[in-house]
Amino acid sequence: MDVIKNYINGSFVESTSTRTADVMNPATGEVQAQVKLSSKAELDDAVAKAAEAQKAWGATNPQRRARVMMKFGALINENMDKLAELVSREHGKTLPDAKGDVQRGLEVVEVCMGAPNMLKGEFTDNGGPGIDLYSMRQPLGVVAGITPFNFPAMIPLWKMAPALACGNAMILKPSERVPSTALLLAELLKEAGLPDGVLQVVNGDKEVVDAILDNDTIAAVGFVGSTPIAQYIYGRAANNGKRAQCFGGAKNHMIIMPDADLDKAADALVGAGYGAAGERCMAISVAVPVGKETADALIEKLVPRVEKLKVGPYTAGDDVDYGPVITAQSKARIEGLINSGVDQGANLVIDGRGFELQGYENGFFCGPSLFDNVTPDMDIYKEEIFGPVLSQVRADSYEDALNLVIDNDYGNGTAIYTADGDTARDFAHRVNVGMVGINFPIPVPLSYHTFGGWKKSAFGDLNQYGPDAFRFYTKTKTVTARWFSGIKDGGEFNFKAMD
Ligand code: NAD
Repeated sequence: MDVIKNYINGSFVESTSTRTADVMNPATGEVQAQVKLSSKAELDDAVAKAAEAQKAWGATNPQRRARVMMKFGALINENMDKLAELVSREHGKTLPDAKGDVQRGLEVVEVCMGAPNMLKGEFTDNGGPGIDLYSMRQPLGVVAGITPFNFPAMIPLWKMAPALACGNAMILKPSERVPSTALLLAELLKEAGLPDGVLQVVNGDKEVVDAILDNDTIAAVGFVGSTPIAQYIYGRAANNGKRAQCFGGAKNHMIIMPDADLDKAADALVGAGYGAAGERCMAISVAVPVGKETADALIEKLVPRVEKLKVGPYTAGDDVDYGPVITAQSKARIEGLINSGVDQGANLVIDGRGFELQGYENGFFCGPSLFDNVTPDMDIYKEEIFGPVLSQVRADSYEDALNLVIDNDYGNGTAIYTADGDTARDFAHRVNVGMVGINFPIPVPLSYHTFGGWKKSAFGDLNQYGPDAFRFYTKTKTVTARWFSGIKDGGEFNFKAMD
């Protein structure tokens, strides 16, 4: 059985911990490796080494750091197939989807190739007599990234690329369910020229996370995962004086107006609702058609599309639409929520429960489920299901639909399908959600914009990647400098001279 190691000072190091977690093959239900769950002492040691390595890395000029990102980007491209295979093997998503996972991470690396430009300071000439002001962005020191299972390449890359390009050292704690992709990325970074110790990958669970939150050397924590853990990490990190940005779960709605192209809306809902088995924080899990006619027509268009979905292992080829969910517990939880939907009176139009795939009977596959007549008091509406389940909630009017989104606890992404520019504009302006799609189902912003939800989908300020990442991973220092040759009245500071 493979034992997955940590990556410390540029080498693989086996943790001395006796605690382990199984890394599953979700398609077969077999344990394919074990990852050691590192101890607090191992975390503290990795941080001390990172702090040492950061001194020289932080002093390296940004252009040289950008060159490492350039080589890293090229190596990611060269290793695309290998990385995608690794993602699919541990996560279960299809290979095209896994390549998308790597690609969306690579795009953030590409923005980090422009680090010198992003890190430029500001300058005020002659702010007073003989006085100039300038500000600079300096690295924080050692920072930490804690990432979820659902994007084994993309989210570690969202964390490590900007943090490192800004001159920090990073402790990365990937999800213990999918640890291998981050380790391969760490090896590629070394090959790209990153000095040893600047990126340390420490595997583990709550024990390591708590050690990160309590380690005094770590200046900032970037987290992505479920809302309860995001809120916990934000509180503990902030309490310990750290900068923190913690991104949580989601319940993303798509409003479908009567004037929308319903075929396009139905296609979009199927991709956004069931792609990656619904295990995306930007998945659309609630369809909100406006008016009875729209709702009846939409469900009619959805049924044949959903019935056609092909569920299978990533090895079965490119015509598979989605793979298994991550664990047996996850499958059981999803099916339990579907049961609750039926018990609470929703209309289960397509039932994905009890799905078994021939030859993969022990895999964690869920058939697609489609609900109609879901109401906001039902658990299937309130909970983030994180599975291949789409709920239709019928709204009488645009205002009712909008208020449903506004009243929801989560605020990651949302979308509207309409042919009317005024409605689309009104929606984008009034909705209290961080990322909005207009005739666009999964509005993940491009890498030079920035990603982040509102409400219970994010704790802390500043978003992930784009300009916000360069702000999060640096602190600003402002210098006020006076040179006396510029003062004509005898050399003393004189407010009158400022007139
Ligand atoms: P999770 O919260 O279970 O785990 C995320 C990380 O936290 C992992 O590294 C895990 O080891 C650690 N962790 C888990 N329990 C912990 C505890 N009690 N104390 C300390 N650390 C703990 O999330 P997950 O199941 O891996 O990922 C799915 C969730 O992530 C979904 O809710 C999804 O919406 C969310 N997500 C959000 C975004 C976003 O940008 N908002 C992106 C991707 C995923």
